[in-house]
Amino acid sequence: MSHKVFAPLPANDNGCGWTQALDYRQANVELQGEQIADFVVIGAGYTGLSAARKFAQLNPNAKVVVLEAQQAAEGASARNSGYLVDSTLNDGHMSDTGLQQYRDKYNLNKSGVDCVSQLVDEHQIDCDWQAQGKFHATAVPAHQAKLQRFSQLLAELDLDHRILEGAELKQRLGTRYYTQALWTAGGIMLQPAKLARGYINILPDNVSLFENSPVLTWRKQGSDFLVSTPMGQIKTPKLLMAVNGFMASAGVKRRQAFPLTLTASMTRPLTHEEYAAIGNPEPWGLLSAQAMGATVRLTQDRRIMVRNTAEVRPGMNMSISELEKRKATHVHGLKRRFPELPAEVFNSTWSGITCISGNNGQVFDQLDSGLLVAGCYNGGGIGLATLFGEQMAHMANGEMTDSIAMIQARPKPNALPPQPILGWGVRLRLMRDRVIARNEN
Ligand SMILES: Cc1cc2nc3c(=O)[nH]c(=O)nc-3n(C[C@H](O)[C@H](O)[C@H](O)COP(=O)(O)OP(=O)(O)OC[C@H]3O[C@@H](n4cnc5c(N)ncnc54)[C@H](O)[C@@H]3O)c2cc1C
Repeated sequence: MSHKVFAPLPANDNGCGWTQALDYRQANVELQGEQIADFVVIGAGYTGLSAARKFAQLNPNAKVVVLEAQQAAEGASARNSGYLVDSTLNDGHMSDTGLQQYRDKYNLNKSGVDCVSQLVDEHQIDCDWQAQGKFHATAVPAHQAKLQRFSQLLAELDLDHRILEGAELKQRLGTRYYTQALWTAGGIMLQPAKLARGYINILPDNVSLFENSPVLTWRKQGSDFLVSTPMGQIKTPKLLMAVNGFMASAGVKRRQAFPLTLTASMTRPLTHEEYAAIGNPEPWGLLSAQAMGATVRLTQDRRIMVRNTAEVRPGMNMSISELEKRKATHVHGLKRRFPELPAEVFNSTWSGITCISGNNGQVFDQLDSGLLVAGCYNGGGIGLATLFGEQMAHMANGEMTDSIAMIQARPKPNALPPQPILGWGVRLRLMRDRVIARNEN
């Protein structure tokens, strides 16, 4: 494996409403000088932090290092919508079919949910855990057939769910916008940045986390890897790439995984009057029946989050003026659902980078002896990233587990066409999905 150079990393915007709600955290120092470690992880999101934690627990005398380009746990792991899910309506436009395949996928997601749940319980991680299920909804009667098919599938798997319509639905959500919704019991809503911060707080003492330490190059030297950051270098026999949407920038899985940039906005907490005007509903989380329809949440602290854009961007990140344009789309989505709320009620807007494959397959691979890579969770990464990270630690330890066997039995990501054809294809697909979901975003 030759010398690899990371593409420069775009800086995170600092608009994430989930992170803004947390206490200030002083970043750890940068990597400096020359060091040696038993296991090095690149990327401090759910995957990297889970892998580091588990490897350190399995090997209490080992030195484990995590290198993060920016502030730890402030990438997609803090910027997502906070749905920890077992069942998925479909795979958007990348669905695998058949009951057994769906059951396998469900079982994998469920293992991810259980993995997070166990950690949250064991370490009492405060992440606004809300085990009240999730909704899949449509505002277009013609799209209800999809919910009906999903209901049949869930019934075959004996999974608790219910269809809601009319006044009951309006009362539950506080909006008349949707014509029908399917509620599944298994979904959990949480505050993603709190969970990610929790993963930092529970790192064992034999893990060193270096922040603002972007990996610039890495290469194999004998049986070790040499990893360089602006001010330091580290040698290790075991290296895990846990950079998710930045895999292609790291020179790995270029033909299997690609980044998508999503944006979201969140309101300030609604006033008592505003909350009463929408009927004082209990908190909820709702996913659209359409791939490009809006994801909307009403949080425990009475904020509304709207995420309704997804795009391919060469630079991946967004300037303030670009975020302002996306915010206009979020405001439109909010006003459609809650016309009684003022347009200026949003007080945060942010972007985040997620990782997608052509067939919904995830990446869990050993590229070379000691060189591991995990990621590409296709929008469902809270549970899977936690699970894959832990299982990568077992793999780095030379262990086989039932979970590794389950992950390895899932379809691998398909080979994608080369750029620029891939970029054109994805843009066309997103455009088509946007048209189909024009009344749902
Ligand atoms: C807006 C949005 C909404 C989403 N909603 C959901 C949801 O509701 N439910 C769900 O399950 N999933 C959701 N996802 C997906 C989920 O957030 C991701 O799958 C998950 O966070 C992946 O975790 P990770 O640790 O693999 O990657 P990340 O959290 O992206 O962490 C990777 C880290 O690698 C770092 N890095 C990159 N390059 C380098 C380098 N050269 N050197 C050092 N560090 C580097 C990055 O800075 C980053 O911190 C959403 C994603 C987005 C963006």
